[in-house]
Amino acid sequence: MDKEVGHNIGRTISTGCVARSLADTSPDHKTVSLPSAERDIHEACGVVGVYAPGAEVARIAFFGIYALQHRGQESVGIATGDGEGIYIRKAMGLVSQGLHEDDLSQLPGHVSIAHTRYSTPGSSRVANAQPILAKGPDIELAIAHNGNVVNAMELREELKGWGCSFDTSSDSEVIAQLLAHAPAADWEERASYAMRRLEGAYSLTITTKDELIVMRDPLGVRPLCMGRLGNGWVVASETCALDHIGAEFIREIEPGEAVLINAAGPQTVYRKPSSNGFQASCIFEHIYFARPDSVLDGSLIYQTRMAMGAELAKEFPVEADMVIGVPDSAIAAAVGYAQAADIPYGEGLVKNRYVGRTFILPDQNMRDLGVRRKLNPLPELIKGKRLVVVDDSIVRGTTTPHVVSLLRKGGAKEVHLRICAPPIMWPCYLGVDFATKKELIAANMTVEEIRDFVKADSLGFLSTEGLLRASGRPRNKVCMACFTGNYPIPVQLEMDKLALEV
Ligand code: SF4
Repeated sequence: MDKEVGHNIGRTISTGCVARSLADTSPDHKTVSLPSAERDIHEACGVVGVYAPGAEVARIAFFGIYALQHRGQESVGIATGDGEGIYIRKAMGLVSQGLHEDDLSQLPGHVSIAHTRYSTPGSSRVANAQPILAKGPDIELAIAHNGNVVNAMELREELKGWGCSFDTSSDSEVIAQLLAHAPAADWEERASYAMRRLEGAYSLTITTKDELIVMRDPLGVRPLCMGRLGNGWVVASETCALDHIGAEFIREIEPGEAVLINAAGPQTVYRKPSSNGFQASCIFEHIYFARPDSVLDGSLIYQTRMAMGAELAKEFPVEADMVIGVPDSAIAAAVGYAQAADIPYGEGLVKNRYVGRTFILPDQNMRDLGVRRKLNPLPELIKGKRLVVVDDSIVRGTTTPHVVSLLRKGGAKEVHLRICAPPIMWPCYLGVDFATKKELIAANMTVEEIRDFVKADSLGFLSTEGLLRASGRPRNKVCMACFTGNYPIPVQLEMDKLALEV
């Protein structure tokens, strides 16, 4: 497994802005080619920040990011600051596989950040794992980033003109360099400069050698919340991470807010309103990304998903014997559908919850088994039944026909698919790796053609109005661009995710 060695940046690294990784010395392991995922949606990333003098901040960050494993399974990293320097450990793989007790012992300090990643811009290699370190004329910092900056290419060229060199292919390094080189005397000026230049989605946790800074883009695309932990403070992508480490939820970081956390506690040092007054929190967090036990925009995700199921039952009623959900993300919506339609809820599919991301490719025989490695039907429970099957979304349409086929082979008499998301017709440029437009099934087929393709008896996609009602969010506060094509900021259509690749 690739692992980047720990560094005391303040003491031992004299040149370059990003620590050199083992991957750079091992050509065979430089770029990791991943097997194509069985799931069509590749999550955003997860970030954590901890400011807690006297506590084991690396350990707290570890367990915080462990709770956010669902947001990215490709790499993990932690950085700490102890007043003297910044220390980083990062590795490919799951949190529990990538970092171990001896890693934590090399991460001293009172401030920490952590990151778990699924690649969006940039390829899959340990050098692109985060936190990413940057050294400016008068500051060193490490950042953990969730989101996607759409003007990273032009900023990168500008920063090169300032003498910055880039060691990774990610937009996150552009943010790190911009922050480190911002003409600024303090964090108010630094945050103000960076936020006026960056366009797109960024929820950031940043550590210097002694302070924690967190920022959320003015549109508020990706979530970020703050909690209290004893005498310290914790910031995380989702509230489930606060719960996991015993922190008390205090509030969300507001869109456009930059907060400095040090011995004086949290202080908002800068606020930037969005240019058009709108916000654009990603509605897909509610549908799929966030954990059901997280609270987002004031609502428990589990209850929001139940409401999506209830809306689906109103929009697409059908005579049926049982409602099942495709585990895990559609279970709550299936419960909501069943309650609203007064049809018994049951389990018809069992998920192998211990299937993580693997770097071992399946052989042809196993590949043919496809989704069966993840999902297995319960024939005794579904045989002869008319099923309502609730799923979160259909992206490329590669998985759904197999799910329907599994249920039919298990004896289901009818399969009525109900989808919590409207048809996905546009790519995401704000941190989610869906697909290009030509790969999106709903961009190329009508609903009836998709029903025929997946071989369901009926198919219903939740409307955008139903989704808004279920999420309880007004239209001018959410992004629904992958359904509507109305992006909250101008984007370069079909932007290549590897455009920043060195
Ligand atoms: Fe979320 Fe879709 Fe907007 Fe991307 S385009 S931020 S996935 S709602």
